[in-house]
Amino acid sequence: DTIRSSLYSTSSNHHDLALPHANTPKANATFVILCREGEINEILQSLQLLETTFNDRPHHRYPYVFLNEKPFSANFKLRVERAVSSSVEFGLVPPEMWDIPPHIDLVKAQKSWDRAKKSGMPYGGSQSYRQMCRFQSGFFFRHPLVLKYRYYWRIEPGVKFFCDLTDDDPFRYMEQNNKKYGFVLAMHDIPGTVRTLWIWVRQWYEQNQELLAPNNMFGFVTENNGRGYNKCHFWSNFEIADMDFYRSPAYLSFFDHLDKMGGFFYERWGDAPVHSIAASLLLDKNEVHYFDNIGYLHPPVMHCPKTPAANAVSPHTGRSRCYCAHESSFAFDDNRQSCLYNYLEVKGRNSSDARKAFMK
Ligand code: GDP
Ligand code: MN
Repeated sequence: DTIRSSLYSTSSNHHDLALPHANTPKANATFVILCREGEINEILQSLQLLETTFNDRPHHRYPYVFLNEKPFSANFKLRVERAVSSSVEFGLVPPEMWDIPPHIDLVKAQKSWDRAKKSGMPYGGSQSYRQMCRFQSGFFFRHPLVLKYRYYWRIEPGVKFFCDLTDDDPFRYMEQNNKKYGFVLAMHDIPGTVRTLWIWVRQWYEQNQELLAPNNMFGFVTENNGRGYNKCHFWSNFEIADMDFYRSPAYLSFFDHLDKMGGFFYERWGDAPVHSIAASLLLDKNEVHYFDNIGYLHPPVMHCPKTPAANAVSPHTGRSRCYCAHESSFAFDDNRQSCLYNYLEVKGRNSSDARKAFMK
């Protein structure tokens, strides 16, 4: 604590924070941002809040990796570099991680995109969205610029962070508590995007029983004792994870199996259900963490910590720790869309107790 507060107080005002790219991360960790050139304004918004709530503290200052299948312009890079307190690397996603793999029948795929579009599925007609989901499911953690890091925090354009994290380093938390997957929001997926996903998931785990974690969170994703998928998933636009999990032979075998089945293109499997089902089968319950202390918005859904955290005053700023109203949290609505209560129940908390505790 003394070390941390003295580190913090070495910068009595924000101008001191502009030490040129001081970069001494405490965990081997990075932010990873996959985005497009045209999302510059939304990116700068995300960066402003991430920096001012967390990363510009001298004891944090984690580096960034920006990825895109098309090169970023010099102007984009300059704007991003000037917006952050740490170092940034910009990388190209190579075609073998982005392009539709040769085993996919493009005629069949196109037909299903037309159908999905007609049915009104969000991004139903989009090829690039599907490529993005496949990349986030199976490749980002193997990108050459990302390989040197163990932990990552996924950041998207246009998100908000509401709470001061001066004293809470999520990466250090993961490291010190042996966590491998961290989330803030959990909800039900759109059924039409994952029609056959569970068939292939089940086929894989029946053939690979020995790879399942003994004390896993199977119950978070299944219904009827494994006969179906309940559509619960962690909302992966926010994700803090130990990438050694994704790099493990078990995860890679799981991903390869799904990739062969083609549902990233014939349906619209998201990286969120793929990551979430993998975490629920392959990790110990205790390796999954709910970051209740992080106030976060990805429109239209938000999370704001329950009291007293949300009402507390930050010792560093003398102002609110969280600039959000707890009762606006997605999980607060009793709309059954949230999967937080399933999660808490699987983690061993009585769901109605958990619900009450959350709502107070
Ligand atoms: P949503 O959150 O599911 O509505 O989808 P987004 O449009 O936010 O896309 C998810 C993430 O992938 C965001 O970080 C986007 O910037 C990124 N993304 C989506 N499509 C593409 C693409 O075609 N190219 C690149 N480089 N990034 C993409
Ligand atoms: Mn998004």
